[in-house]
Amino acid sequence: MRTLHWFFHYLDQIANLEFKSKPAQQGGTQLRYAAGLAAQGGEPLSGRIAQALAPIVASGTGTVVLVTGTGNPTWLPRGETDGPSGVAVLARVLGAFGLRSCIMTEAPFVDAVRASVLAAGSPILEEAGWVQRGNAAMVLTYPTGAAQGRAFVDGFLARQQDVRAVFFIEKPGPNALGVFHNSSGKPKADDWVAHAHQLADAARERGILTFAVGDGGNEIGFGQLREGLLTTHPYGTDCGCPCKGGILNATRVDYMFPASVSNWGAYAMSVALCLASGKLEALPEWREVEASIAAPIAAGAYDGYTGLAVPSVDGVSLTGNKAVYDLMMEVVRMARTPA
Ligand SMILES: [Zn+2]
Repeated sequence: MRTLHWFFHYLDQIANLEFKSKPAQQGGTQLRYAAGLAAQGGEPLSGRIAQALAPIVASGTGTVVLVTGTGNPTWLPRGETDGPSGVAVLARVLGAFGLRSCIMTEAPFVDAVRASVLAAGSPILEEAGWVQRGNAAMVLTYPTGAAQGRAFVDGFLARQQDVRAVFFIEKPGPNALGVFHNSSGKPKADDWVAHAHQLADAARERGILTFAVGDGGNEIGFGQLREGLLTTHPYGTDCGCPCKGGILNATRVDYMFPASVSNWGAYAMSVALCLASGKLEALPEWREVEASIAAPIAAGAYDGYTGLAVPSVDGVSLTGNKAVYDLMMEVVRMARTPA
């Protein structure tokens, strides 16, 4: 791991290349990443995550849970392009290690997430088939609201005894007052969103490792970095909505990876894991990653920034996403080249 330190550092940097067209969001990426490092020991986050996952992938058995899905009933009724592709790539890579994926999202986002996971190459099976396959994915509908969410989490964890890790990729979570917001401070209706922070808490109580990627501050996992962002984040202490609690999520996870675009954080985690494990053939090719970005559009999702039905992610074109993935592959090439 030590010898890979700089390569993990490069992956962290690439996942945090900032391309924001909205002035209000420019400069925030480095702020969040710096807070992520400061709160978690200062070592490259992709490397820490690869290290934490090493014994899980080495065992080659068990279930990983991947939670994603964000949108709003007015502009993004079927979700957005950031999140699904990150989950799809992680599911594909973890499947190559023999881990089956249980993917969870709210009902309106199920089609887009399913399409993305299939496009990246993972088979999606019903539970009876899924439990027999080490590399398959299953998609579960995460109920909205607090009460239904709690029953869902308890039932799921009682039924699935082999959950090894839970990932939250671009998954909104509530602030310290329990209010959900989008990244620009607008509150979300409590009964329209999954209360997936309950799953994070329940997993941690059971000693199941939790990982998160977020790119705004309102996503699950920012609880870890909250203190460091309260005064520096533009909506840290005041969201502008009546709650006055700020947008910063208050949910803690074991490993939080802030990224410029959440998909990129998930790609970097995947690449770091394959690099650390010497299993580079597990990484999907760009054309599969590209398909996982485009597939949600055909299923009704839009770009969360522009609102357009084009295969861009947070305003970054496919060309930009390819450049980012290519740079990560360049890190792989360098890491494998003898000095
Ligand atoms: Zn508020």
